[in-house]
Amino acid sequence: MFPLRRVVGNKILEQWRSQATAAVGAKTQMKAYSTEVTPRPLTMLTEDELAMRETIRKLATEQISPLVKKMEDEHRIDDGIRQMLFDNGVMGIETPVEYSGSGCNFLTMMLVVEELSRVDPAVAAYVDIHNTLVNSLFMKLGTEEQKKKYLTKLCTEYAGSFCLTEPSSGSDAFALKTVAKKEGEHYIISGSKMWISNSDVAGVFLVMTNADPSKGYKGITCFIVERETPGLSVAKPENKLGIRASGTCMVHFDNVKVHESSILGEYGKGYKYAAGFLNEGRIGIAAQMIGLCQGCMDATIPYTLERKQFGKKIYEFQGISYQIAHLQTQLEAARLLTYNAARLKEHGHEFVKEAAMAKYFASEIAQTLTSKCIDFMGGVGFTRDFPQEKFYRDAKIGTIYEGTSNMQLQTIAKLLEREYTQ
Ligand SMILES: Cc1cc2nc3c(=O)[nH]c(=O)nc-3n(C[C@H](O)[C@H](O)[C@H](O)COP(=O)(O)OP(=O)(O)OC[C@H]3O[C@@H](n4cnc5c(N)ncnc54)[C@H](O)[C@@H]3O)c2cc1C
Repeated sequence: MFPLRRVVGNKILEQWRSQATAAVGAKTQMKAYSTEVTPRPLTMLTEDELAMRETIRKLATEQISPLVKKMEDEHRIDDGIRQMLFDNGVMGIETPVEYSGSGCNFLTMMLVVEELSRVDPAVAAYVDIHNTLVNSLFMKLGTEEQKKKYLTKLCTEYAGSFCLTEPSSGSDAFALKTVAKKEGEHYIISGSKMWISNSDVAGVFLVMTNADPSKGYKGITCFIVERETPGLSVAKPENKLGIRASGTCMVHFDNVKVHESSILGEYGKGYKYAAGFLNEGRIGIAAQMIGLCQGCMDATIPYTLERKQFGKKIYEFQGISYQIAHLQTQLEAARLLTYNAARLKEHGHEFVKEAAMAKYFASEIAQTLTSKCIDFMGGVGFTRDFPQEKFYRDAKIGTIYEGTSNMQLQTIAKLLEREYTQ
């Protein structure tokens, strides 16, 4: 009986599979595993991923945490902390070992950003932008010579900056006005970039310029520019609401002369690179937001379990505990969106919509969650003696950089339209 049932069962399964593929395939881009592989729950991590997460959690708690206030007040990341990040392989998480990197996978990078954000989202921004927008571009587009020269230093010596935004081009990034004019074997770069993270300390800048404005966005070309190059100057850090220790400055290029071998990737493909890598970078911002939310909850829940009013712990009031349960559920949903986008990217699947959803959702809930945590703390939550107010201010950047919330919604809406009209 059993073999017969199995044959019949398999036939039914086959039929069901083909019907399901026809029904589902039209509207989604779902990818199936072979039936021999049981997909893991998203929150189950490999031994290596867990080990890295634990290492970073320990470093963040023991070494970064005591300096958070000082770094915030001084508007800069402590030199010792920056060195510690280099020493522990954090500045080259995905970079192959041959270039002095840690050779980890993409999800590990997200876990590192999440753990750092639990303690200080400004340090996480420094690490995230350096890894996802600078190292990644070098890894995927660099010539062997460029990789040997720059990736090794980016893992061991200096941070990198990604320069796309300008005073007059933010969301409309490809309207950039910085130009690169050809002169023999060289290009002369002129223009200004705004809001450039890590530019206070970066040793190398990836600069999106237009090398042929007559071609519109198809003239956009990415150049590698070293900090010491004559004509490059960095203004003083912006006085920001949040992530104050992360250095965000204007960078000016006044007739900066670079050799044509400084082009990263292909001439005229800069718009593709910027758009493509920002899609990956967005998952990092989502990871920053979920780490920040977890850090805020970790600081808040114990307080509500201790603080008494009307003879009871305030957590015992449903008005408090149900709100906490609701927020932690939203945080878990954001975490799943983030890990899913990261796994899709890591396995070479389409991930643009999922990355936009993760960043959009995580950064929006981060605003509500951190604000609510201040409420749960009462008056002390409104002071700088407790970490909630910093998390609240730091959360605000999530809906702005690497594409505002509206830009994420635009991406999601466009992709949905395509799915339903194809
Ligand atoms: C702290 C910080 C760090 C940053 N780091 C970097 C960096 O390292 N490198 C870099 O290149 N850039 C960086 N940026 C720039 C950041 O990516 C831009 O600020 C962001 O893309 C928004 O651009 P904008 O500020 O010009 O706002 P705008 O584009 O002027 O947007 C203003 C408002 O208009 C809305 N809007 C614009 N267009 C539309 C539309 N079509 N439909 C609906 N709404 C729209 C936006 O959603 C937003 O609400 C950073 C910014 C900050 C604040």
